[in-house]
Amino acid sequence: MRPEDLYSDVVMFHYKNSSHKGKIKNPTAEQEGSNLSCGDSLHLYIELNGDILEKVTFDGHGCAVSIASASILADLVEGKSKEEAVEIIQEFYKMIKGEDFNAELLGDAMVFENLKQFPVRVKCATLAWHTLEQLLK
Ligand code: ZN
Repeated sequence: MRPEDLYSDVVMFHYKNSSHKGKIKNPTAEQEGSNLSCGDSLHLYIELNGDILEKVTFDGHGCAVSIASASILADLVEGKSKEEAVEIIQEFYKMIKGEDFNAELLGDAMVFENLKQFPVRVKCATLAWHTLEQLLK
């Protein structure tokens, strides 16, 4: 795998066309996260309905990998319970570390399966996930 393979169609689609970009007016919770090694800086917003993540959005700036990963994450966890979202995040970490993971839960996030070959990019791809994890605690 070459580094440029990280910028697959799926990644570029989410980077350019994310339907989760922007603020939520009255978010239930919000959290900022940054990755100094690349200069990625994201702000996550969630709207909860009971225990369900009704809406998940983000804004900020970052490289294609960090933005696409945030968009993919938002797609995956929207409509899920907090508990399910935490489980999805854990499966993503397992995949990144090269451990066994539940592919059914990860959908488009599977594009980052080979990311572990590029340690610098791992921080970009996991930024939104760490940020959401903090937010849900
Ligand atoms: Zn980055």
